[in-house]
Amino acid sequence: MSAHHVVVLGAGYAGMAAAVQLAARVRRREDVRVTLVNAQERFTERLRLPMAATGQELSELDIPKLLEGTGARFVRGWVTAVDAGAKAVRVDDDLVLHYDTLVYALGGVTDTASVPGVEDHAHTLDSTRDAEVLADRLARSGGGAVVVVGSGLTGVESAAEIAERHPGLDVVLLGRREPGSELNPRARAYLRAALDRLGVRVRAGVEVVGVRPGAVDLADGEGVAADVVLWTGGTRVSPLAAAAGFTTDERGRIVTDAALRSVSHPEVFAVGDAAAIRQGYGVVHGTCQSGMPTGVHAALSILRALRGRQPKPFRFGYYHTPVSLGRNDAVVQFTHPDDSPRRIHLTGRAAVRYKEVVTASPWPTYGRMKKMPASGAFWPRGGRVTRVAR
Ligand SMILES: Cc1cc2nc3c(=O)[nH]c(=O)nc-3n(C[C@H](O)[C@H](O)[C@H](O)COP(=O)(O)OP(=O)(O)OC[C@H]3O[C@@H](n4cnc5c(N)ncnc54)[C@H](O)[C@@H]3O)c2cc1C
Repeated sequence: MSAHHVVVLGAGYAGMAAAVQLAARVRRREDVRVTLVNAQERFTERLRLPMAATGQELSELDIPKLLEGTGARFVRGWVTAVDAGAKAVRVDDDLVLHYDTLVYALGGVTDTASVPGVEDHAHTLDSTRDAEVLADRLARSGGGAVVVVGSGLTGVESAAEIAERHPGLDVVLLGRREPGSELNPRARAYLRAALDRLGVRVRAGVEVVGVRPGAVDLADGEGVAADVVLWTGGTRVSPLAAAAGFTTDERGRIVTDAALRSVSHPEVFAVGDAAAIRQGYGVVHGTCQSGMPTGVHAALSILRALRGRQPKPFRFGYYHTPVSLGRNDAVVQFTHPDDSPRRIHLTGRAAVRYKEVVTASPWPTYGRMKKMPASGAFWPRGGRVTRVAR
């Protein structure tokens, strides 16, 4: 009998968690094979991309090396199609991998398609390469305006990092919402004061309708001068899942059941940003803190299914929102399981240390999981509010 083949697509925060958890648990089994497919051999620390965008060096985190000793195979390549009927994945147009179980963890990228000009005239932060290109551009600019579009946390962290590293640049943060709108009022005020101190000019309540060379256009007709534009306005997922015929939501994410299986294709698990996972409070939104548990849970569910047992429902509750404000300041908002802010938050040096521990933790966590898989299976389940009425 041939071994049961589990193919994991994507080695981001969620896919790595799934592949390592599974490979570590089946390393002595002949009847299960694990293959991890990813565009690069180097793990992309997305949480550090705002730092990398100002020239700060990131560690070389080698995925094949981390998998050594687990028996899992690593395939470097670009997934171009999934054939759900044939249970096959095409990689780089010349390799076809057949699967018995698929873990779909291709994440998301910045949405550059919904506003004209973004694709051609704005930088994004989806990869280490993107960050290096922006860092190079900023290092070469002798002055002028850098416009960061998107007042979500990626925009805030990026604007702060750029302003701190390049005090000679005029950094403008544009967005619909007040920066830090997801934080409690005192944490939000702290974040805003930090941006002011760094010299970031915040313009909230604006709608960007276009980007062109030298300017960003607002809905009211104003053109905001911009020598460099960084676009952080929203994310989109790969069209591969919808093209494969998996049931997806309006954003193209695979709709899962309680056990993280595709509702249309139960041999497919979807995790991380590429999945629409419902909890009692709503659909989980993309973060590292939720992505890693989804990967681990998928791995455990696959193992249960292989033993002929029913997988358990996934439960997850948020617990924090750490936000860096340059290298010397940060704010950490503690949250209720539904991600609404609690009254407590950290600021200053304590928050900087906290944020660094969180940002640095995924890679050592995978290393630990490789040796002790059970160590990866702890995360806050969130109690009552995560329970889905069925
Ligand atoms: C700049 C930035 C800062 C962020 N900061 C934070 C933060 O501070 N805290 C937080 O919780 N979240 C943060 N996020 C969000 C967080 O990074 C995501 O929620 C998380 O990365 C999702 O993990 P994932 O495994 O689902 O996807 P990803 O980490 O995106 O991994 C997907 C993987 O799949 C690969 N891939 C995609 N398509 C293909 C293909 N067709 N073929 C082969 N490989 C492919 C990608 O190269 C990547 O390795 C940030 C995001 C960005 C962009």
